[in-house]
Amino acid sequence: MDVVAILLAAGSGSRFGGVVPKQYLSIGGKPVLRHAAEALLAEGQIAALQPVCAAGDESRLAEVLAGLPLLPPIAGGATRADSVRAGLDALAARAPDIVLVHDAARPIVPTGTIAALLDALARVPGAIPAQPVSDTLKAGADGLIARTVPRAGLFRAQTPQGFRYPVLRAAHAAADAATATDDAELLERAGHAVALVAGSEHNIKITWPEDIARVNISPLMVCRVGTGFDVHRLVEGRPLIVCGVTIRHTRGLDGHSDADVGIHALCDAIYGALGEGDIGAHFPPSEMKWLDADSAQFLVHAAARIAARGGRLVNADVTLIAERPKFRPHVETMRARLAELLGVELGRIGVKATTTEKLGFTGREEGIAAQAAVSILMPDA
Ligand code: MG
Repeated sequence: MDVVAILLAAGSGSRFGGVVPKQYLSIGGKPVLRHAAEALLAEGQIAALQPVCAAGDESRLAEVLAGLPLLPPIAGGATRADSVRAGLDALAARAPDIVLVHDAARPIVPTGTIAALLDALARVPGAIPAQPVSDTLKAGADGLIARTVPRAGLFRAQTPQGFRYPVLRAAHAAADAATATDDAELLERAGHAVALVAGSEHNIKITWPEDIARVNISPLMVCRVGTGFDVHRLVEGRPLIVCGVTIRHTRGLDGHSDADVGIHALCDAIYGALGEGDIGAHFPPSEMKWLDADSAQFLVHAAARIAARGGRLVNADVTLIAERPKFRPHVETMRARLAELLGVELGRIGVKATTTEKLGFTGREEGIAAQAAVSILMPDA
């Protein structure tokens, strides 16, 4: 069964009041539109997306949705109905069995929604997710209540709405199609049965600026934690570089790169939180190009991986373990350097120093150890 989703992103966002249309606003480092597209595709039933955007926005939209199974974006019309019809017309040659229509301003499609729609579409030509009205409804005029409206049997219609393609295309050919506020209404007018499947309060349509905050507290972002540990030997004739700061000392740390034990532990914590291996996997010591390398570039790479995954570093905490030198006087310089390399505020970075009471290899000043922990806010995979 061929299922295609029309993604409506043609709105100018006038109700939102901003310069950037709401579907292009970023939530958790990712545009609302991209959240919507990924949510549609998450459960694998949809073969392709047919985006409909404002005229002239085609390339911006293709960039935002890069890497997804996309049909060429097309320009929508003056009304919502015009935009849907443009999407349906673009699919004429393909003639999919089922078409879903989804608002790009709805970044969350709760799990199971599309399966429930497809299940219903086996029996009836249309199906929509809808949420029973739970607030008491008032009709009002001039700031006064005119009457209470019985809410029993009332639902709020959400998207994605699903239809058998030929039925929706025929319904959109009706002369008064532009007056419908959703696609289900056109099937209702034509006398077709449209099923109601379970909607969700999480399926938020971003209409007002405060809606962004409501999405931020939704289950889209999860916190991930990573830890790292590293040790390097102290030797004669090497500079001592720890957490990106060169420190005057009688000896330095031995290693293939500059042996910055603090940055190495921190990189491993980040790669660990991302589930992307360790520093050795990204920068193999067997490769000559990393000989005496400045470890700062490793940390910049790790930070770029967080960004590439749509994540945000919440905080990082490094503990340096050494008898000598005393790192405490350098802690603030180290924090500032790590914050700079990671591109975050100073307050997100902790650096601490401790000894092992002259016990073990650090106590005997044979080497220096570092451990690190990070937490990263990331879209749930
Ligand atoms: Mg190391």
